[in-house]
This record gives sequence, structure tokens and C-alpha cells, in this order.
Amino acid sequence: MNKRDIVELLHQQKFRLTREREALLDLFVRTDKMYTPAQWHEVAQRENVRIGLTTVYRLLEVLTKVGLASPFLVEGNIYYAFCEEHHHHHFVCLQCHSVEDLYECPSIPAAPRGCRIEHHKVDLFGTCERCQHNSQRGAKHQ
Ligand SMILES: [Zn+2]
Ligand SMILES: [Zn+2]
Ligand SMILES: [Zn+2]
Repeated sequence: MNKRDIVELLHQQKFRLTREREALLDLFVRTDKMYTPAQWHEVAQRENVRIGLTTVYRLLEVLTKVGLASPFLVEGNIYYAFCEEHHHHHFVCLQCHSVEDLYECPSIPAAPRGCRIEHHKVDLFGTCERCQHNSQRGAKHQ
């Protein structure tokens, strides 16, 4: 999905893009990590995107609604990452919070008798390759 399509989707949700909001959106789209709204706010400040926490919440809410952001519940906190529009799954690293998209559908449990499945959502949580290497290297130096 190109930028103009995303902007159009946001407009349909009555979310007008100012220059600062657009900078926040760009930051969100190019980051392959998940952050809480407060963390996204911090990341934005560091990148000199002057935007309030309320706007961060609003953008994440709208993007989630149109399917361009995914919430992840980890240890009681809700993190958000940008999502492509195509159906996919995720591998989430619990250490560095990177999010990798997986385009192969896993086999899913059968629905209860008489129930019809509309869609499915499967995310995997673990430790990415880089974090595994880092922790091994760290252990050797001790
Ligand atoms: Zn995704
Ligand atoms: Zn990692
Ligand atoms: Zn699937």
C-alpha cells in the first residue's frame, strides 16, 4: 500500500494529516519494532516530531481500525507495530521487541461444531536470532 492510499484511508476516518502527524506516520511506517503509545511518543520526540501523546493514541487507534497497525499484549502492556494490508502473522521478539511478518498461514484448531470461522490471528513470541547471539556473547564475557 502506498502512502497516498494510507492518507486516503486516514481521511475516511476523519483523521486529517498535518505536517507533524505525517512525520509521525512516516516514523511508524519505517519502524519494524513495536512500542507502547508512550514509547512511540518518546521516539517521536527524539526524532523532533512535535506531537502530543493524545495524537499518538488517536493515530494508533485509527490505524488499528483500518488494519494498518497491530496491537500486541505483552506482560500487561499493549504495544503497536505498523502492518501491511495483506493477511499475515508475526514473530515478536520479547527482548528487542522487533516484529517480523510471516506470510505463511499455520494450521489452526478446528472451530467448535456449528461455528463458522471468519478469520484467524496467530502471532509467535520468542527470541530473535540477533538477541540469541547477543545473550550467548554476553554469557561468554562473564
Ligand atoms: Zn503485521
Ligand atoms: Zn530480538
Ligand atoms: Zn493466516
